[in-house]
Amino acid sequence: MALSERGGNGADNAIGRWAKRLVPSVCDVSVTNVCQATCNFCCFAHDKQIVTNRRFIDTGKFIAALPLLHRHGVRYVNFQGGEPLLHPDILELTAAVGRTDMRAAMISNGFLLPERIDPLIDAGLSTLLFSLDSHDPAEHEENRGLKGVVDRLKTAVAIAKARGVPTIAVVTVSKLVDYQRLPEILTYVGCDAVSFSYPRREPFGSSSLVFNPESDLVDFTGPELEKAIDGIVELKRRFTVMNPRAALEDLRRFARGEAQTIACVGGRRYFYLDWNLHLWRCEAWHEPMGSVLDLDRLPDYTDHCTACNLNCYRDSSAVMHFGLAVADTIGEVSKGRIGAALGRLGQPGLGASFQAVIQEAGIIAKLAPRRPAGKT
Ligand code: SF4
Ligand code: SF4
Repeated sequence: MALSERGGNGADNAIGRWAKRLVPSVCDVSVTNVCQATCNFCCFAHDKQIVTNRRFIDTGKFIAALPLLHRHGVRYVNFQGGEPLLHPDILELTAAVGRTDMRAAMISNGFLLPERIDPLIDAGLSTLLFSLDSHDPAEHEENRGLKGVVDRLKTAVAIAKARGVPTIAVVTVSKLVDYQRLPEILTYVGCDAVSFSYPRREPFGSSSLVFNPESDLVDFTGPELEKAIDGIVELKRRFTVMNPRAALEDLRRFARGEAQTIACVGGRRYFYLDWNLHLWRCEAWHEPMGSVLDLDRLPDYTDHCTACNLNCYRDSSAVMHFGLAVADTIGEVSKGRIGAALGRLGQPGLGASFQAVIQEAGIIAKLAPRRPAGKT
């Protein structure tokens, strides 16, 4: 297993250190394992009765970890769960990130959002993500076990948009989704964009429970998954879809049992922090890197992992891969290692990643948070 950077494989000079900061890092933070929903494809769902030890991240320790995360390049903190709004200190956690130059985003099932969205934005929330499972509001509410949640989302999205906060629906690729009709509910709720979460039945190695081995809704054959990918690609013509084409093409390779081309940034520029303050390479990985409070002593992973289709990591990898190769090349040249520098530029997937950067630049600019606005 290739481990380097913080763990050290040789001292970096000033240019090398500058180059490493060219690509900012992301940390998904699961603040609790508690959820009030009943989603078919998720073992956090309270009706599955798998979560018996209800956990909430320690607020003081998380705040103490923020300077460490910042020092190691994290600029984006995504709160998730379970349901993050069930953490009693979620406003304090958001405000702590908001006081830094890191951006705080959140993915929620949305049920508690209408009452919380204004204080969250006051605290510094910069992007709102929420789940939708179907083009059909009734199907979504039935899967979630949250009656009335679609109209509650519509209310919260309107508030967020009025205050300049981008809103993104996250749709799990499941048998509930009709890609042709999906814009109906996206338009009804009023969100700016949609991002697809790729289906998962296999258990994760980490503490994350966003999978269900018994779910019929995410039980896809390869050809069925490819058909879903076709639906997403087609939807890109009609709605703002966040998933880069390069990541969707790698997902297609995954569906065919072929090797994916783009090296994953999991454990290098994208991390998973859980309610125990354990920092993981990603939700899928089998062992934690260690306590986030020991981050200075934890090495990054730099191997070419393409083992899974976890969308946050794979989508980010499609966009970051090119920038990381450039940063690595600059670092090698600064040390006079020309052969190694050329090797960095010869990695597979760089052309597709460069195209992803160009294609996503417009979307990223469109969804950049606007000037924080006062309450409406
Ligand atoms: S998918 Fe989200 S809302 Fe649904 S049970 Fe899992 S954590 Fe809760
Ligand atoms: S490919 Fe999957 S298992 Fe490998 S680092 Fe990325 S998210 Fe983790």
